[in-house]
Amino acid sequence: MDIGLRAELAVRGLRAAPPLRRRAGAGPSDDGHWLLGGGCAATLPMAPDSPFALDREGRLTRDGVVVEDALLEPIERPRFYDLRTEDGIAYEQLARLHGDGVLATTVVQTCIRYREEATRCRFCTIEESLKAGATTQVKQPEQLAEVAAAAVDLDRVGQMVMTTGTSNGPDRGARHLARCVRAVKDRVPFLPIQVQIEPPVDLVWIERLHEAGADAIGIHIETLDAEARARWTPGKATVPVEAYEASWRRAVEVFGRNRVSTYLLVGLGEDPDALVAGAQVLIAMGVYPFVVPYRPLQGSLAHADGVPAPDPAVLSDVTRRVGEALREAGMQGADQVAGCAACGACSALQAVGG
Ligand code: SF4
Repeated sequence: MDIGLRAELAVRGLRAAPPLRRRAGAGPSDDGHWLLGGGCAATLPMAPDSPFALDREGRLTRDGVVVEDALLEPIERPRFYDLRTEDGIAYEQLARLHGDGVLATTVVQTCIRYREEATRCRFCTIEESLKAGATTQVKQPEQLAEVAAAAVDLDRVGQMVMTTGTSNGPDRGARHLARCVRAVKDRVPFLPIQVQIEPPVDLVWIERLHEAGADAIGIHIETLDAEARARWTPGKATVPVEAYEASWRRAVEVFGRNRVSTYLLVGLGEDPDALVAGAQVLIAMGVYPFVVPYRPLQGSLAHADGVPAPDPAVLSDVTRRVGEALREAGMQGADQVAGCAACGACSALQAVGG
């Protein structure tokens, strides 16, 4: 799919509500899950005011006119959603299907940064799904192992993402993540797993996550721009960029080149040239910059402030340039094996070969 169109879809979304969708939670959400022609997964906002819709044959239309002779297929609700643990918790409350074959869970659904508006990331809704009763606060390792085994058996899930809210301890949540990884690997040894975490105070936790069996790691700074960090992620911005750099370097040593990634959000007010230059520095370090549009999620502080999604032309331009740098470096999201970059559904990078 043409990058301009893919970027527009990522920002404007579709007038449709497919069977697989999610509302609030960690990461970009409020989206429906689709398979684009060519087999790439895409998470697209469900937007009643979008110019894009699907005709009866499933072809993409803009204002009623077919724009691309490619079918968009909705990703079906997985069968493991119908199961419950012995104590009655729906598997769906413990982990969700993302994109095409990704099992995703937030192992601890609370975050020290979220409690106060003054420290909360302004795009985040991590605790809203908990308040809505859609998930549980702490996922137990054995529960995740049970769900992972079922998701692999019933729905051919091929990789798993484990993220966490940030905890107060120096491990920043890595201790519980490591337990969860170990339990899933004991049960489903061949399932690749990515963990996502803030830089731990003690970098030994990066090794421990790897020893537990994690295959890839995401350490997400969201933006490299100091002013945007302070405004959008005031709590996380108290962690200096140097701490992120030290964590990324250690992670590349432990996990390997292109097994480490970070989110870079487009739409936080950063200069596009600076964003691309920052992404190039990350690529040179062996860190995959997962470029995604900021999405105004209902329940987030930015949504309440009416901050709009980015201009699709800017997203398209940044994605194209970062994709070029990734191609030159021989780095592909798929080579991460597990995680958001391997999935790619929330980004337009796959449309440009990243
Ligand atoms: S890119 Fe990440 S957040 Fe988006 S659907 Fe894939 S796994 Fe989920």
